[in-house]
Amino acid sequence: MKRIEHLGIAVNNLEVAIPMYEALLNTTCYKREVVASEGVMTAFFQIGESKIELLEATNEDSPIAKFLSKNGPGFHHVAFEVENIASEIARLQAAGFQLIHEVAKDGADNKQIAFLHPKSTGSLLVEICQEKSA
Ligand code: ZN
Repeated sequence: MKRIEHLGIAVNNLEVAIPMYEALLNTTCYKREVVASEGVMTAFFQIGESKIELLEATNEDSPIAKFLSKNGPGFHHVAFEVENIASEIARLQAAGFQLIHEVAKDGADNKQIAFLHPKSTGSLLVEICQEKSA
C-alpha cells in the first residue's frame, strides 16, 4: 500500500454537504462524478496528498442507500492506493481477505478499484485503488 488515497464519506445530499465540507476543509470541491455502476454521485476535495470523497446514492439499490438507511451519514470507507491492483488483490486473497470485487473495476476519479468485504477486515470497509494509466 502506497498511501491513504482518500476517505469515503456517505452523505444524504451533496448540495448540502459540498458547501459544508468546503467550509470545513477550507478548499473547493474540484470534481463531481457519477459512477452509474455503483449508484453513486461523488464529490472530491484534495487535502495534502490525500482526498475526501463524498458519496450520495442515486437510487435505492445503491450500496450507499443501504449504508445510509442502516447507519446514517458519516464515515464509509478508507481507500489505499496500490502500485498494481491485480497483484494486490491476489496478495490479499492469499492472506485470507475476502474481496467484494475479485477483479478490479472502474471507479470514480480515473481509478481501478476493488473493495474488501468488511467481514474479513473487522467491519472496516476498505477500498484499494490504482490510477489508470493514460
Ligand atoms: Zn472510494
